[in-house]
Amino acid sequence: MSTRALFREDAYLTRCDATVTAIDEQGIHLDQTVFYPLGGGQAGDAGTFTLADGTVIAIADTRKAKFEGATPDDAVHVPAPGQEDALAQLAVGDTVSAEIDWAQRYRRMRLHTASHLICAVLPFPVDGCSITTDYARLDLATVEPIEREDVEAKLNALIGGAHGVHTEWITDDEMAARPELVRTMSVKPPMGLGRVRLLRIENVDLQPCGGTHVRNTGEIGALRIAKLEKKSARTRRLVLELV
Ligand SMILES: [Zn+2]
Repeated sequence: MSTRALFREDAYLTRCDATVTAIDEQGIHLDQTVFYPLGGGQAGDAGTFTLADGTVIAIADTRKAKFEGATPDDAVHVPAPGQEDALAQLAVGDTVSAEIDWAQRYRRMRLHTASHLICAVLPFPVDGCSITTDYARLDLATVEPIEREDVEAKLNALIGGAHGVHTEWITDDEMAARPELVRTMSVKPPMGLGRVRLLRIENVDLQPCGGTHVRNTGEIGALRIAKLEKKSARTRRLVLELV
């Protein structure tokens, strides 16, 4: 039931043809997908499956599949409720056209990439992170005061600097030898596939990440810090929104 995670090679793929490998209580499993499953703080994709006869199934969410021997790439697509008639048309072995809600995903890609910039502006360990369509929330382990206007100015300068964003791969062993790359304490690097994906923002940041990102920081567009608060004595919470 393994899934080929096409979004890891190309986050801009909005659609693919795929074969249904299983249908169970978790949802619909495909041999390959452009749908990002909830993980690393980034929300799971929504979208549609279109069957050969034109029937459309709305997908509300995507999660990591749970089964014996599942890898972090194995995804399951969760149908929106109330589609019994459409789902009755679907069988294992069928080909579907799987298409994500791109407007939603692209906002998440912009916000997700912005959260990497935050790591460069505020080089503190991240102990919580959530990337949604509307905001990116990061909890930074620090007791240092954070100046909102200063951070906003530095962030927007990095966005305006139009830095290239690239994916690189290293082996699990190389990753284990470079623990300094791990910024996010609450999110383990996506290991277990024999290789680890690193996200490099040219001249800005390098860290392991399995999420979806834009190709250039210029695509993020203007940002503002919607919230900056003390979450606990040792944690500052920062919420970013697209302007
Ligand atoms: Zn990332």
